[in-house]
Amino acid sequence: MKKGLLSFILCTMFGIGTAACAEPQCMDAAFPAAVRPAKAGAGQSSTVQNPADWRLVLVNAAHPVGDFTPPELITLRNGVRVDARIYPDLQQMFDDMRAEGLSPIAGEGFRTFDEQCEMMCGRIREYRRKGYSRTESESMARAYVAEPGTSEHQLGLAVDINSENGDHQSVYEWLAARAHEYGFILRYPQGGESVTGYAYEPWHYRYVGREAAQEITGSGMTLEEYLGADD
Ligand SMILES: [Zn+2]
Repeated sequence: MKKGLLSFILCTMFGIGTAACAEPQCMDAAFPAAVRPAKAGAGQSSTVQNPADWRLVLVNAAHPVGDFTPPELITLRNGVRVDARIYPDLQQMFDDMRAEGLSPIAGEGFRTFDEQCEMMCGRIREYRRKGYSRTESESMARAYVAEPGTSEHQLGLAVDINSENGDHQSVYEWLAARAHEYGFILRYPQGGESVTGYAYEPWHYRYVGREAAQEITGSGMTLEEYLGADD
């Protein structure tokens, strides 16, 4: 049984994590990707979903990753987890930023399928409490939270990087100019919304390896365009 369905059933049966499943139908109506994990599994036969290079897997609304978990995770000092394979480059990048007087912090890294469910359900409930209708709440939540199985954070290859001392802009500017040297790309660039499905996120960086990062950043392409999956 797939994790999403299992957690749905468990939460419904036991009322686990009222945060996640206080409204059991929330899952059913709001997350087609979550209740149809078979679709994600089927997608994994494509080269976009399951490329020869683990660094180039594409995850977005059209390419769900199902209940995928990275082979090995590493926990950073602040408790955030990332795919262990990106750690050396991430650490080097942070060291170099600190050497220039910046205070970067990885606020979000790996997130499980279930954690994504909790985020989505939590956000929907928040809007319901404020008096929005079910439909309104769902569509508003979707504007901010990726459906379970479609978040790049589930790969362990994405990191949200901000500043520990509040000077986020300096961190974003450094990253925009230099992150590709360490194998990271600005995943949701300004003007890329129609292709990526996301508004500009100056903090969200995705590891693709140094070679691909150079090419993508140099050309101004999105990952979708680089992989030829922008249809
Ligand atoms: Zn992010």
